[in-house]
Amino acid sequence: MSVKGCYMTALRCRECGREYAAEAVYSCEYCFGPLEVVYNYDQIRQVMSAEAIASRPENLWRYRELLPLQGEPTDGLNSGYTPLVRADRLARELGLRELYLKDDSVNRPTLSYKDRVVPVALSRAKELGFRIVGCASTGNLANAVAAHAALAGLRAVIFIPSGLELGKVLGTLVYGPDLVSVEGTYDEVNRLCTEVAGKYGWAFVNVNMRPYYTEGAKTSAFEIAEQLGWRAPKHVVLPVAGGTLLPKVWKGFQELEYLGLISELPTKIYAAQPDGCSPVVNAIKEGTDIIRPVRKPQTIALSLAIGNPADGYYVLKAVSESGGHGETATDEEIVEAIKLLARTEGIFTETAGGVTIAVLKKLAASGRIPPDETAVACVTGNGLKTTEPVSGRLGEALEVEPSLASFEARAGKILEAAAIS
Ligand SMILES: *Cc1c(COP(=O)(O)O)cnc(C)c1O
Ligand SMILES: [Zn+2]
Repeated sequence: MSVKGCYMTALRCRECGREYAAEAVYSCEYCFGPLEVVYNYDQIRQVMSAEAIASRPENLWRYRELLPLQGEPTDGLNSGYTPLVRADRLARELGLRELYLKDDSVNRPTLSYKDRVVPVALSRAKELGFRIVGCASTGNLANAVAAHAALAGLRAVIFIPSGLELGKVLGTLVYGPDLVSVEGTYDEVNRLCTEVAGKYGWAFVNVNMRPYYTEGAKTSAFEIAEQLGWRAPKHVVLPVAGGTLLPKVWKGFQELEYLGLISELPTKIYAAQPDGCSPVVNAIKEGTDIIRPVRKPQTIALSLAIGNPADGYYVLKAVSESGGHGETATDEEIVEAIKLLARTEGIFTETAGGVTIAVLKKLAASGRIPPDETAVACVTGNGLKTTEPVSGRLGEALEVEPSLASFEARAGKILEAAAIS
């Protein structure tokens, strides 16, 4: 490919290696393996330096040589480059010395990690001439596709399973897409979207745009490494739903090492899933690479409720190649972890973040993450979208009349606590 500034050369089947032109295709005609973007790393090595990157705007496109676009990005110019927060108060509670949080709960504009992957998918969809985009979503992807489509001037048709949190439904509808609520599980929604994409030729970000979409997730790894001063941490804990984020973070670190942007890659990657939907972590714990789908997920972490993860196998590979592990969290532990994170670091995460922090806590307690080694946990979504599971479990407001007398008559506990602190 000769376009200046484009280092994507083709798509390649992850299983049999056959190559395809970089179009709206996602699975191999011969073996049905997933297709992945191929880059010309020799050329990239000549242009992509820490200095060049440092001079660019603070958004996900600062790593654009490693993202699958031919021309200029048309979306996501305010997305990515989220804070890497040093979390000393949480670290102390967990018995760790150097802990960071990759805080995608403040990613823009829709407050989740999906603001990384969607701009890449939509910019590429635009390049390929699509006017209508869509997705199958557990909520955050719906928000992101709706918002970014609005920004990009594309029509959006979004499919969700029924029963999602109100915040996620309203946080989609507000952007004015067509929203389809399907009476079924996410896996059923996804199957339907595959048929719709095939029949109508719309660009579904996580179906026929999947090779491009997933590449956007690498930017989490790029940012973590850059924000640590171009080094990779010893441990990274990531939530798993469909299995996009985790293997792509691993791939991102591997690319940085290959290009010489980091000098070593000591990172172990850990998968976090909720107890009621943990097909990937079950396989990790059983030491098998056969993933048994969960037919009816049962968890408050609806954003992670994918019973048959498309890229689950690649999560297993990344975890085992890196020497990491997997762990789960119960609904109770998720809520406790949400409260712990808020109380120690002032971050209100959603249920998926609760899963991640609960798993981090277990990994620290068991010694898998030793006290003196650098750890990063990825907080992937914002708690204001998932208030239902914490409602009624956070204590409640003291109700008083608008007078000092009423306040003092009822505020015994508050005044007592204030007196001794
Ligand atoms: C989508 C999502 C994830 C990870 O999903 P993958 O499909 O595994 O990439 C994690 N956390 C939140 C909040 C999400 O919305
Ligand atoms: Zn193949």
